[in-house]
Formats: sequence, C-alpha cells, structure tokens
Amino acid sequence: MNKIDINKSWNYASAAEGTEHIQLKSKYDLFINGEFVKPSSKKYFNTINPANGEHIAKVAQANKEDVDKAVKAARKAFKSWSKLEPKERGKYIFRIARMIQERAKEFALIESMDGGKPIRESRDIDIPLAANHFFYYAGWADKLEYVFPNKSPKPLGVAGQIIPWNFPLLMAAWKIAPALAAGNTVVLKPAETTSLTALKLAELIQDSGLPKGVVNIITGAGETGAEIVNHSDLDKIAFTGSTVVGKLIQRSIAGSKKKTTLELGGKGANIIFEDAAIDQAVEGIVNAIFFNQGHVCCAGSRLFVQASVESVVIEKLKDRLSTLIIGDPLDKNTDIGAINSAEQLATIEKYIAIGKKEGADIYQPKCQLPKKGNWCRPTLFLNVSQSHTIVQQEIFGPVLTIQTFRTIDEVIEKANNTPFGLSAGVWTEKGSKIFKLSKKLKAGVIWANTYNKFDPTSPFGGYKESGIGREGGLHGLKPYLKFEL
Ligand code: NAP
Ligand code: MG
Repeated sequence: MNKIDINKSWNYASAAEGTEHIQLKSKYDLFINGEFVKPSSKKYFNTINPANGEHIAKVAQANKEDVDKAVKAARKAFKSWSKLEPKERGKYIFRIARMIQERAKEFALIESMDGGKPIRESRDIDIPLAANHFFYYAGWADKLEYVFPNKSPKPLGVAGQIIPWNFPLLMAAWKIAPALAAGNTVVLKPAETTSLTALKLAELIQDSGLPKGVVNIITGAGETGAEIVNHSDLDKIAFTGSTVVGKLIQRSIAGSKKKTTLELGGKGANIIFEDAAIDQAVEGIVNAIFFNQGHVCCAGSRLFVQASVESVVIEKLKDRLSTLIIGDPLDKNTDIGAINSAEQLATIEKYIAIGKKEGADIYQPKCQLPKKGNWCRPTLFLNVSQSHTIVQQEIFGPVLTIQTFRTIDEVIEKANNTPFGLSAGVWTEKGSKIFKLSKKLKAGVIWANTYNKFDPTSPFGGYKESGIGREGGLHGLKPYLKFEL
C-alpha cells in the first residue's frame, strides 16, 4: 500500500449543502402595502451568484413613482400601527422572529448563493442574529415607558431605510425590528447585488399577517436609494453603507425635518501585545479580517503587533493562512467565500496594486482559486506605514496591513490616526491595558481578546467618519422615537 503524505495529499471531502428544497421565484416584484406589485418602470435587473456567475433571479427596479407609492402605504399604515396596543406590536415582531428561525436554513442558503458568504457564517451568524434582533426588540415594544421614564416616547412616523450588501438579512433586521417596536412604519431598500433575502423576508412578513403597509421592501440601485432619501414625506432616514454616500445623504437632507442615523465605513485596529495568548490572537486576527471575505465595516483591517512578538505572530499567521479553505460558499468546509461582486473585486484589486506600487511587501498563500466567479486570496501587507493608502482607506476585502509598535502610547496614537472610528480589538493578558485602551481608543466598539462578536443587546456605531448614531440595544430604539416632555 502506498504511504499517504498527510501534508501534501490530504484534503477535506466536499460537503456542499443541497439547494433543491429552497423556493425562489424567477422574478421578484416590489413589496408595497402587503402585496407584490410590478414596478412602474417595468424594468428588472439580474441578481447573480458571485461564486459562479450564474443568474439566480430577476429583481424589480423601483423608480420615483414606486418610492412614492411605498411611502404613501407606510404613511397610511402608520395611523393604525402607531396606535396599536404596544403588546400587540410586540407579538407581530415576535412572530417574525419565530418564522425566521423556522425558515433559517432556506434563508442561510439564499444568503450564501446571492452574496457569496460561506454557509457556515450565514447559517451560524447572519440568520440567527437576524432572528435575535427581532426577538430582542419584540420584548421592548410594550416597555418603552420604562426605558425612557417620564419622557412620553412617541414614534417618529415613516422611516426610509437603506442597507448594504455585506450582511443583507441581518442589516434588514437591524433596521426593521427597532423601528417597528417603537411604532414606526418603514420603506426599506436592500443593496442591488443582494436583494433576495430581503424579498424572502417580505414573503415571510406577508405570511405573518403583519398589517399591510407597515413594512414595504422596494428594490433597485443607488438611484432608488436617492429617491427614498429625497422623498418629502419621510420622518427619518436610516442608512448603512459607505462614508461617501453617507455624506451625500447628509447634504441632501440638510434643513429638512428628517432625522438620520448613518452607519458608515471603518478601518479597525487589531492590537496584539506581547503578553497575549499568541495562538488565540492569531485566530482572532484571521477572524477579524477574513470573516465574510473582509466585507465587514468593523473588520480588523489594520494589525498592530508589539515588536517583540512580531516574527512569531507573522510566522504563525502565514502558517494559518495556508490552511484556509477558499471556494464554494455552500460547502460547509469553506472558510473564505466569493467576493460579493465583480465591482467590489475590482476595487480590492485596485488597492492591492496601490499597496505594491507604494512599496509594501505583499504575502498571499498559494491556494487554488475556483475558475469561475469573483475570488481574492487572503492578503497580508508588511512593511507599511501610517501614510500608505492601504493603511488609511477602507478596502472592504480580505486585505490586512501589518505594523509594529513598542509602547502602549505609540499604539494608541497609531490606532487613532484614521478618519474612521468604528471598532478595535485588544489582545493582552492584562486587564489594566484593556481598560486603558478602551478609554483611549476612539472607536464605537472595542473587543478584548476576541473580535467580531455581535449581540442585539449591545449598541453598535462609530465616531468620526464612521457615522452618527447607534444601532442595537436600547440605544437603537432612541433614533426611532421622539420625546414629549
Ligand atoms: P454604498 O455604496 O454606500 O451602498 C449602501 C446602500 O446605499 C445600497 O443599498 C446602495 O444601493 C445605496 N446607495 C448607493 N448610492 C446611493 C445614493 N446616492 N443615495 C442613497 N442610497 C444609495 O455601500 P456598500 O458598498 O453597499 O457597502 C459597503 C459600505 O458599508 C462600507 O463602507 C461599510 O463599511 C459600510 N457598512 C457599515 C456598517 C456599519 O454598521 N457602520 C455596516 C455594514 C456596512 P446599491 O447597492 O443598489 O447601489
Ligand atoms: Mg447576488
């Protein structure tokens, strides 16, 4: 019998999830006033699977007239929804949460097919967290008076909500659940490349018996988003996306009655001290930047390693990179899935080229990439400094820059030297260092000895160009309420 060299010829057998049981229509209309209606534009766009380029379905493109229809439906529904017994509102939200749980597998598969993320992530993170958001806010619906005592909290009215493509169903949950719990009605637009789970949510909402017009889901590209932002009868715009578009939105609504929350970009610092548990920290580095292909606003995309442990951390990190499995998002072994769109892949490749041109040292493992679809190897950039473009700008892909530091004050200064302020990670055995850094780092979320942990009870949001306002927790209710003292 031939001897098998486990380091060379050993591979995981394929463990791809089947998709036979999921139900997808070939064409999706707009969800307005509890019904699926054809778009006034009569136009549809294709949504594709970024892992193989295959067409999945056609999706309606909403224009100004459709946005107006959706806002009118939401306005009409607001009259009765806002007056409904808060306990009854809570029951509907609770029911939506339960139904997401019941259909979790189908949602997870569609999320991975439409957006490219590994099934392990959509199954274990995106979908359960989306259900948890509805559960959590269902519980607050009839307790607003206790959350904000003596302030007579009242709903704002109709909210326009615009979300990105990196956590499609989860972002929809972050937006819809607190808005409904506070008694508002909504018009939500998912991102162009990942509309399908929002449309499946629309079907689920229809099945849940939620009163018509409370949730309207309309699809389209940036122009549809702009039509929502500019609609004169909205009370609030809740936006998650890039800082560039966030600034455009701020300009468009300046002087209007609309309130806003903006959840924007990031460039998180992940800081490893010499006293950290190095193996766990290396896993933490991998999770911080390669989770969801690095399409994460709070990704730990800037690594700071204390100089005394630089060589050991980098050696272990390179070793770990060589074991990451890149490929079919529906395979349960996959660690890194497909890049969400050809456009985003071009952006990441542009930044990789800039990094090389500006003199940084690149390292990529020699893994096999599938022939079709959008793929990017996990990438490390060494020998970078604060002034490198790849250190300053958000890449939104699996690209990590690595810098060193000697003292705690030096790393605080370097970590804060960015226009963003969304997230950071600190790895150390010393609680005192964690306390010092969590006070001194200008970031909305700081994880200690872990990274990318999300919880509906915990507020999330940024400083500086990372945005305005918080989502999640009790903080997430406030932007959907007005207070009459
Ligand atoms: P994006 O280009 O800003 O798009 C976000 C959403 O806005 C999409 O639905 C998009 O529609 C729509 N949109 C585009 N142009 C618009 C306009 N002029 N007016 C109104 N809406 C418009 O961002 P993205 O590339 O999808 O998402 C990545 C960004 O989101 C990253 O910067 C990331 O950091 C950020 N993000 C932040 C958080 C957070 O909580 N802070 C969470 C997740 C992501 P189309 O997709 O159809 O073009
Ligand atoms: Mg798609």
